Amino acid sequence: MPDPNSAQEATPSVQPPFESWGRYPSYNAHLLPLHWQSDFAAVVPTLRDSALPVGMGRSYGDSCLLKDGNLLVTTGMNRLLSFDPATGLLTAEAGITLAQILDFAVPRGFFLPVTPGTKYVTLGGAIANDIHGKNHHVAGTFGCHVTQFELVRSDGTRRLCSPTENPDWFAATIGGLGITGFIPWATLRLKPIVSRSIDYEGIQFHGVDEFLDLTTQSQNIEYTVSWIDCASTGRNFARGVFMQGDHSPTPSPLTPSPQPKLVFPFEAPGFALNHTTVSLFNTAFFHKQIHQRVVSLQDYEPFFYPLDKVLHWNRMYGKRGLLQFQYVIPWEHAREGTIAILREVANSGLASFLAVLKAFGDVPSPGMMSFPKPGITLALDFPIKPGKSFPLFERLADMTLEFGGRLYPAKDAAMTASQFQAFYPQWQQFARYKDPLLTSSFWERVTGEPLFR
Ligand SMILES: Cc1cc2nc3c(=O)[nH]c(=O)nc-3n(C[C@H](O)[C@H](O)[C@H](O)COP(=O)(O)OP(=O)(O)OC[C@H]3O[C@@H](n4cnc5c(N)ncnc54)[C@H](O)[C@@H]3O)c2cc1C
Repeated sequence: MPDPNSAQEATPSVQPPFESWGRYPSYNAHLLPLHWQSDFAAVVPTLRDSALPVGMGRSYGDSCLLKDGNLLVTTGMNRLLSFDPATGLLTAEAGITLAQILDFAVPRGFFLPVTPGTKYVTLGGAIANDIHGKNHHVAGTFGCHVTQFELVRSDGTRRLCSPTENPDWFAATIGGLGITGFIPWATLRLKPIVSRSIDYEGIQFHGVDEFLDLTTQSQNIEYTVSWIDCASTGRNFARGVFMQGDHSPTPSPLTPSPQPKLVFPFEAPGFALNHTTVSLFNTAFFHKQIHQRVVSLQDYEPFFYPLDKVLHWNRMYGKRGLLQFQYVIPWEHAREGTIAILREVANSGLASFLAVLKAFGDVPSPGMMSFPKPGITLALDFPIKPGKSFPLFERLADMTLEFGGRLYPAKDAAMTASQFQAFYPQWQQFARYKDPLLTSSFWERVTGEPLFR
């Protein structure tokens, strides 16, 4: 077998201070970089405070932060341990990134079973948030494709977890926010591909009903996602572009991806992203697709990871950072809830630069605390504007609750404890699996649970 670790250098590394992607909140923490074959149980006696394993810090809020605690940075634990091309089963240390897995797998004719909108997340981070991708309606969440992992607790206990072995620990740890124990390695089932290309189709739509019609028509297409203009009102309200695609069945060279070269060079001033600039961007983006329907063959990089082209693009939001808001509202109230929330956003004068709308399917999530459920999910981000962003966020979170939905912890820095506990009524059952040493600023915020120290 070729050396599985030969294509692993160029992923951007984590630099102190450790920030989440939203850059809010910002906390001091003690960074403990782990290395190949680091043993969590052996690290524990050296810790005097609580700890949290972290990956690439691509969560937006505070679920990957621990104020004044120990962050066990896993990105040095990034070895591929085995790969079986007959089954697609890949075993790797949990700090490996999806970018590193792709560098290894694509030239060998394999792809990730589920991928988020950035490839710079770790295997451990993908499991702990049970992430979803554009194929949720057919493939379910990332955890659906994890066949096993090891879970190490701070008391030194080790468990092999799979759907059949220690299934309760498996369910608690997938989407378990990093606090049920440390995952040193995991096995993931990759899927075969014969080309880097995606058979792409982009379709303009006007309003939520047209989006829903397109969603119904695209049930057999593997990847679907929509960009939506949430700054416009009136005739342009909820216009967008529905983007769909399948892996191309026509064989073509499976070359590795080039490494990104562009870096967002500076901290943008706080006023750079405002309602006017975002409205201008949205109009340009909507009309960039000149025809109502566009068909093309697209490389998987721009299809899945358009934002990864510019490293550190989060600096565009300035020093104060950004707030993400992502809900899922079940089908019963998905249409009215989505229209009401989009109206609230459009009327707020606080423009969301990136707004992504998608339907979740009914493949059950394996995690006790997994975010996805059948319905519509909308992800928005807002530059933090004092006195404005948080009140809007609070209104939107309350509306989500009224419509029977919930928010995504991986994207959150602002939901209140009572909102979280209403979104995830199973949280107390989940809390029984929490490791006494591990916690996060998110967990503390939404449960009021005191730190270990
Ligand atoms: C541009 C962008 C697009 C995104 N698109 C999507 C999307 O489409 N779908 C989606 O679901 N998410 C999306 N996300 C969110 C992202 O996928 C998740 O937040 C992911 O979990 C981040 O992984 P990470 O390696 O950066 O982990 P971190 O953010 O560092 O940590 C995330 C969680 O994993 C835990 N953890 C990490 N390693 C371990 C370990 N070894 N053992 C136990 N716990 C561990 C941490 O404690 C923490 O709770 C996006 C993020 C960005 C920045």
